[in-house]
Amino acid sequence: MKQEPVNNRVPLSQARRVVVKLGTGLLCGARGQFNQSRMESLVSDLALLKQERQLVLVSSGAIGAGVGRLGLARRPRTIPEKQAAAAVGQCVLMQQYERLFSPRGLIVAQVLLTRYDIMDRERYLNASYTFEALLSQGVVPVVNENDTVAVEEIRFGDNDNLAAHVACLVDADLVILLTDQDGFYKQIPSPGRAGELIPEIAEITPEIEALAGGRGSTLATGGMETKIQAARITMTAGIPLVIASGLKAGTIQRVVNGEAVGTLFMPGVGRMQSRKHWIAFSSPVQGWIYVDQGAAGAILNKGKSLLPSGILGVEGEFAAGTVVGVADQDGRELGRGISNYSSWAINLIRGHKSAEIKAIIGYHDYDEVIHRDNLAVMAGEQVI
Ligand code: GLU
Repeated sequence: MKQEPVNNRVPLSQARRVVVKLGTGLLCGARGQFNQSRMESLVSDLALLKQERQLVLVSSGAIGAGVGRLGLARRPRTIPEKQAAAAVGQCVLMQQYERLFSPRGLIVAQVLLTRYDIMDRERYLNASYTFEALLSQGVVPVVNENDTVAVEEIRFGDNDNLAAHVACLVDADLVILLTDQDGFYKQIPSPGRAGELIPEIAEITPEIEALAGGRGSTLATGGMETKIQAARITMTAGIPLVIASGLKAGTIQRVVNGEAVGTLFMPGVGRMQSRKHWIAFSSPVQGWIYVDQGAAGAILNKGKSLLPSGILGVEGEFAAGTVVGVADQDGRELGRGISNYSSWAINLIRGHKSAEIKAIIGYHDYDEVIHRDNLAVMAGEQVI
């Protein structure tokens, strides 16, 4: 019997909560001036999307708009100069959105985040409650990095990664990264030669990574490289992501109608719970636990917790309650989890049965070093 081909775009039309990211290249010209007609057209498409779905908008363009407003000849180079441009530009950017959304009956809200806001579990939860409250009132949150305070250590650095993290934070069903290209190219179009667009990507291979090298326009931060990083996050989290052109009116509708437009990065099978998103992506790993083959198999294929008996070694110094990486003996990352024991304790109990824990370290709070509920498995196809 002939099998019908699977249309991976169909689920996109059912997306209830959508994150759309607009890049600087779409919004601003080379001197930072807004492209008014494009913004008008994008907002009109976004308003249409909003009629049937919830929308979180991640918008770049603060630094670009600041460059324009300040009349600078080029994008600033030093961090304080960039922060100053962003401080000026973010106001101008929000004014634009307010002006464009409100005649369409929509209220916008400014949400500025740094990586620190999602690294810390409490701040992460607070941010997610704010998003819930905004979305339940029909508001369109307009998110950007809090560039004025985001120094290197707490920066997302680019809005593609920011959009992926926000998608996890709000548990979105779809992410659309709109850019000035039609999607992800195997072969970039050039004069006299048609480009070759990849319609669907199920796995980010080294070949895809190699194709993604290079940057965007002079004012923009990201390029395909950061979009691939973003896709890696959303794929693992089980959220589809589409890179498509924001230069063409109606693209957003076409994506949510399930049409074959741009490049779809397919979600991994299974949907990661929101708590596991945080464990997997939001909090920096404080150390590593290496496990034997038996434990790796139990984690990957049997949905088991990590017990001391399967642990071969520990790397780094960490306290109980911190996020650590779990890897097999070849160093392949299996996932991330919150450790019930410190690195010191794990070093002593590794290779032993749980029943022996108390005799070795003097206390026995948990049988598991990482409980399954606190373990985000990220290898292979398992994402739960
Ligand atoms: N946050 C930066 C801005 O608004 C943009 C970062 C990016 O382009 O990815 O200018």
